[in-house]
Amino acid sequence: MTLPAIITVAMTGSVPRKADTPAIPVTPSEQIESTHEAYEAGAALAHIHVRNPDESPGSDPAAFAEVQEGIRRHCPGMIIQFSTGGRGRTFQDRLAPLELCPEMASFTSGSVNFPDWAFVNEPAAVDQMALEMKSRRIKPEFEIFDAAMLYSAIGLVKRELVERPIHVQFVLGIRNALPARREVLEFLVSELQALAPDATWGAAGIGRHQLEVNHWCLELGGHCRTGLEDNIYFEAKRLAASNAELVKRVADLCGQWNRHPATPAEARQLLSLPQQVQ
Ligand code: ZN
Repeated sequence: MTLPAIITVAMTGSVPRKADTPAIPVTPSEQIESTHEAYEAGAALAHIHVRNPDESPGSDPAAFAEVQEGIRRHCPGMIIQFSTGGRGRTFQDRLAPLELCPEMASFTSGSVNFPDWAFVNEPAAVDQMALEMKSRRIKPEFEIFDAAMLYSAIGLVKRELVERPIHVQFVLGIRNALPARREVLEFLVSELQALAPDATWGAAGIGRHQLEVNHWCLELGGHCRTGLEDNIYFEAKRLAASNAELVKRVADLCGQWNRHPATPAEARQLLSLPQQVQ
């Protein structure tokens, strides 16, 4: 018996395209097609950003709804997670798509410096985001960009603003935030397991760290994230790169660590999500 590893595909993100970056999916139809290819390659969870017509980060619930509906139709059982990321979006923009009740949404439980901007989440906004998700039964994925965010996530559970078991994603390799060092990941995982023993976790390696972090997660019992969102500039050097190719790369690695790509049903069970799509 091998252990299932949930593969998340982060196919688009919010980083602007440049002339030499590969053709990341930007329109809803491109995103649905790219997600379907990633699903067939072994992804069980789709992390979704949408773009405005000018390709700036979008918040239009209609665009989110179109992607959500397309994935439900073409990728049976796949878990849909909306981004509530802050690049180019106001707090209200970030909340708006939650009205569509995705099964999961990303959640940042504190503030952090990125290479070229500060992602500020004040305590009151963090609490409001938690309540908005709880009231709609949306499971957060805590994006841990800095160590303190892990402890504030646990605090939200203690204050009953978030339900157990939690799921966290350690994000490694962003300049000014957490470095992609295995010792850092091992420390964060040990803290999580001490403070929230029923939690599940994954990690995302940014840029050139993506594959290395995939290996660490498979070895340490975590789940994996891949996709062009996290390494668009790095993969730009290889114009053939696609989301499905990156998912297949992780799926093919699983056997080395006695793991297999989780089916959507296995991923739902691991994350304590309903088997029936709501
Ligand atoms: Zn994202």
